[in-house]
Amino acid sequence: MATDRPPVAPEISPEAKPFWDAANAGRLVVATCLDCGRGHHYPRALCPHCHSTRLEFRDAKPPARIYSFSVVGSGAGQYIIAYVEIADRVAMMANIIGCAPESVHIGQTLTPVFIDSASGQKVVMFTAA
Ligand SMILES: [Zn+2]
Repeated sequence: MATDRPPVAPEISPEAKPFWDAANAGRLVVATCLDCGRGHHYPRALCPHCHSTRLEFRDAKPPARIYSFSVVGSGAGQYIIAYVEIADRVAMMANIIGCAPESVHIGQTLTPVFIDSASGQKVVMFTAA
């Protein structure tokens, strides 16, 4: 990110708390349905594919990859926001940091990084693998 300010602290729903707790421990996890086997993000109380309540959090399968991205703004305020595939057919929106905008491309492999937000809760961002 172009700024030195910490990111805004996320609002944490009960369904997503395990995701955020894992981020604080330096792990990227995906809410995964025990009935249909599919993952989803953001974490919900019901599987969005089959409505099952039987969900568990599993470690994301590296590498994460850029599905799409946008370079926003210009100059010192410029940042990169992307949809990042973190599991089969599961994408999350996140900032890409530590990369020159002209080097970023669809399909690029990424590594998650866990950045302290204003509250101390870590948020997930990505950088080049
Ligand atoms: Zn399901």
